[in-house]
Amino acid sequence: MAKNRWKIHKFGGSSLADADCFRRVAGLMLDRRDDRIGVVVSAMGGMTDALLNLTQLAERDDASYEAELAAISERYSATTGELLDGKQRAAVLDDWSKDADDVRDVLKAIALVKSAPQRSRDVVAGYGEIWSARLLAAVLASMAPERGGTWVDARDVITVHQTELGPTVQWEVSRNKFESVVPAEFSGVAVMTGFIATDEAGLQTTLGRNGSDFSAAIFAALSSARELSIWTDVDGVMSADPNRVPEAQVIDNLTYSEAMELAYFGAKVIHPQTLGPVIDNEIPVFIRNSRKPGHPGSRVAADAALTDSIKGITAIGGMALVNLEGSGMIGVPGTADRLFAALKNAGVSVTLISQASSEHSICIAVPADLAERARQVISDEFADELVGRQIQRVDITDSQSIVAVVGDGMAGTPGIAARFFGTLGRAGINIRAIAQGSSERNISAVVDSDDATRALRAVHSGFYLSAKTISIGLIGPGTVGKTLLQQIEKQSARLAKEFNLDLRVRAIARSKSMLLGDRRIDLEDWQSQFDSAGVELDLDAFEAHVNPDHLPHAIIIDCTASEFITSKYADWLSRGIHIITPNKKAFSGSYASYRALQAAADEGSAHYFYETAVGAALPIITTLCDLIYTGDEVRSVNGILSGTLAYLFNVYDGSRPFSEIVREARDNGYTEPDPRDDLSGMDVARKLTILAREMGEAIEIGDFPVQNLVPESLRECSIEDFLDRLPDHDDEIDSMYREAVANGRQLRYIAGFDAQGNASVGLEAIDAEHPFSNINLTDNIVQFKSARYSDNPLVVQGPGAGPEVTAAGIFADLLRLANYLSTGEGYV
Ligand code: ADP
Ligand code: ASP
Ligand code: MG
Repeated sequence: MAKNRWKIHKFGGSSLADADCFRRVAGLMLDRRDDRIGVVVSAMGGMTDALLNLTQLAERDDASYEAELAAISERYSATTGELLDGKQRAAVLDDWSKDADDVRDVLKAIALVKSAPQRSRDVVAGYGEIWSARLLAAVLASMAPERGGTWVDARDVITVHQTELGPTVQWEVSRNKFESVVPAEFSGVAVMTGFIATDEAGLQTTLGRNGSDFSAAIFAALSSARELSIWTDVDGVMSADPNRVPEAQVIDNLTYSEAMELAYFGAKVIHPQTLGPVIDNEIPVFIRNSRKPGHPGSRVAADAALTDSIKGITAIGGMALVNLEGSGMIGVPGTADRLFAALKNAGVSVTLISQASSEHSICIAVPADLAERARQVISDEFADELVGRQIQRVDITDSQSIVAVVGDGMAGTPGIAARFFGTLGRAGINIRAIAQGSSERNISAVVDSDDATRALRAVHSGFYLSAKTISIGLIGPGTVGKTLLQQIEKQSARLAKEFNLDLRVRAIARSKSMLLGDRRIDLEDWQSQFDSAGVELDLDAFEAHVNPDHLPHAIIIDCTASEFITSKYADWLSRGIHIITPNKKAFSGSYASYRALQAAADEGSAHYFYETAVGAALPIITTLCDLIYTGDEVRSVNGILSGTLAYLFNVYDGSRPFSEIVREARDNGYTEPDPRDDLSGMDVARKLTILAREMGEAIEIGDFPVQNLVPESLRECSIEDFLDRLPDHDDEIDSMYREAVANGRQLRYIAGFDAQGNASVGLEAIDAEHPFSNINLTDNIVQFKSARYSDNPLVVQGPGAGPEVTAAGIFADLLRLANYLSTGEGYV
C-alpha cells in the first residue's frame, strides 16, 4: 500500500524558547495521526544570536566568549534536564559537549587570526538548529518511542549554490540525498534541522537569517508534501507587523505572490525565499500560532480568493535614496541601462526605482550601507556628463523607509493609490518617492524612517479600520458623564451591528486620576477598573492615549464645568481631536478666544459639538443652524433657557414669598448649590451668547443687559446669609408680580436676541396667550422667528436639564459627529 503523503511543520525559535515550548511542540505533533510528519526546527529563541555573538567576541580576542558559551551550556542543560531523565538526558548532553568542544576549537582559531570567515560563522551559528533537533527528537522518543526519535541533519540533504541573491537549491542532488537519508517506508515523526545546508564544495553553509522557513519549504518540496505549516508566535500573516500596528488583523487567505511580496517588503513572519519551492510544487502553506493551535491561521495558496482591496502593509527600514538629476538625461536613450549596469557590476541591489516621465531625474532606493558605493559607481559611470553639466548631481538621502501596500486585488481597482497617498497626506507624512510595480500588486512610497511607524499605522487604519472606529476619552464621569457611559454601554452592540459603528471609550479622567484602556475600557465595570488600575491624572498622556496614530478618529467628551479643561480645547482641536461638551465656558467666553477656538478647529480639521450647552438635549442649536444653513432669514430668537428660573416663576403666584420658593427649590436640588448662580442670569446670558454667535454676531457678555435677580446687597455674602436675608427683598419681586397680574400678564425670565443685534436677558411680563406662559414646571422653551416662520414661529420646548436628557444629548452629538466622520455628510 502506498504511504500517505508527508506533512511538513516548521517551528520557529519563538516556539522553542524553553522546556514548556518543547513539550507543547512534541504534544502537538504526536496528537496528529498523520502517517508521515516532518518537523523542521529553528534554534531555541535567541540561540543563533548568542552563537554569532561568540564569533564576534572571538574576533576581538575577547576571552569572555568562554563565559558566554557557559551560559549557553547552562540554558541547554537546564532545558534538557526538565525534559529528559537518565540515559536519554545523558546522551543528549554528551553529544552537546562534543559539539561545544568543536565550537571552542573554531572560536580559538578565530581568536588567533582575529577574523571570522563566513564559513566559521556558519559553522558556529548552525549548531543552534542541531541542538534543538536533537533535543526535540529525544523528547518525542521519550513520549512516544514508536513514532518519534529520528532526526535528519539537513546538511546531509539540502545542497545549495550560494549567489549574490542568496542560496539556490541544487534540486537533483538534494532529492537524491533525501531519498537516501530518509527511508521510503518511513512512518512517524522525523525532526529536521532548519537553517543549515551544504554548499557544492561539501562545506557547511546557512540559508540566511530566518532561513528555517526556507528549509521547511525545501523539505516540503523534496518530500512532495501535502502541506506545509509554519508555526510561530503570532496568529498568522497579519495585515501589518503587529509590533508596530496594534490593530493588525490576521489575513485568512493569501496568494503565493501576495505572501512573497509581503515577505520581500519586510514582513518577517516568512522568509522571502520560502515560497519558491512550495509554489513550484503547489503545496499550500499555513502560518499558525503554536500557542493557539485552535486558531486556523493564514492559508497561503495559489487559489486564495481575491479581494478588491489590499492584503497587507509593510515597511522596510535602513534604506537610502540615490537621486540622479540632470536635464541632459531627457530623451537620451540608454541612461537607465548604464545606471543599472554600473550598479549591478558593483553588486548593489536596487529595491525600488522611480523615474519621472520627464526623465529629468531617476531615483533609486538601496540598502543604506550600499548607498555610498552606489553613489561612487554612478558618479564614475557618468563622470563625463557630470563635468559637462548634462547631469547636475548624484545625491543621497539617508534614513529612509519603504512603506508598501500589497495585494493581488489591487490590479484594476481604481482608488487604492489615492487612498494610500491621501492617508499619508492627512497624517502629514512627506513622501519622497513613489513606485508601483506593473503587476499592480504593490504600491510603495519612500518616507523618512522617523515617520515609518506613523505611516504604517495611518495607512493601516485607512484601509482596515472602519471609518467609524472612534476613540473616545471622557473627562468628568459625574452625574451626566456616568449616565452617558451607561447609555453608550447599552447601545454599543446595536450600533456596531446596525451601523458598523465602533465606539471605543479608551480613557476616562477625573479631577486627579485617570483610567486608560488598551483597546477599550469595559464599560460594564469601569468604576472597579478605575479603582484597581487608575493612575494619576496626566492630561498629556490622556490626550496621547485618546489620539494614537493607529486610530482614525479621536473625540474628547468634556462633562465638567471646568475652565481649566476648556483652556485645553484649542490645542486639542488644532491636533485634530474633536470635542463634544455640555460645558458652556469655552464658547461664551471672550469673542477673541471663541474665534481662536474656531481657528484651531480649522487648523486640525476638527469639530466641536455643544448642543447640550443650551437646553440639554433639546435641539436648539441644531434647529438654529438648520434654519441658517437652509437659507432662512432668522429674525429673532427668544426663550426661557433656565429650567431653574422657569420653575421659580411657574410656582410663584404671590401666595407665598419668593424667598421661600427659592429655599424650597434649593432643598429639592432644582437650583445650583448657590442659587445666586441661577438668579444672577449669567448662565442664561452665556446661553444667549452662544446662540447669537451661531447667528454670526460678534457678541460678548457685558455687551447686553442682564437682569440680576440677586439684590445688590446680597451678592457678596455667604449662601446661608443670602438665604436668610432674601426675605427682606421679597417686596421687589412681589410688586413686579402684582403689576403684571393687574395687566393680565405673567412674569417670565426671558433671553432674547434679534437680527438687528439687540440682546437682553431679564424678567418680562407676558400675556396669557404667549407660548411661554403655559409651560411645564422646569421646561425650556425657545421661539424662532424667521422669514419662513414669521406669523407662526417655530417653537422648541421640553425638559432642558437633568442627567438622562443631557447625557442623551451628548450621545446624539456623538452619533452626529460619527456619521459626519464616516460619510462626510451633514454640516458641522
Ligand atoms: P519565528 O521565530 O517563529 O520564525 P519570527 O520572529 O521570525 O518567528 O517571525 C514572527 C514575527 O514576525 C512576529 O512575532 C511579528 O512580530 C513579526 N512580523 C512582522 N511582520 C509581520 C506580519 N505582517 N505578520 C505577522 N508577523 C509579522
Ligand atoms: N535560527 C536562525 C535565525 O535565527 C534561523 C531561523 O530561526 O529561521 O536566523
Ligand atoms: Mg522566522
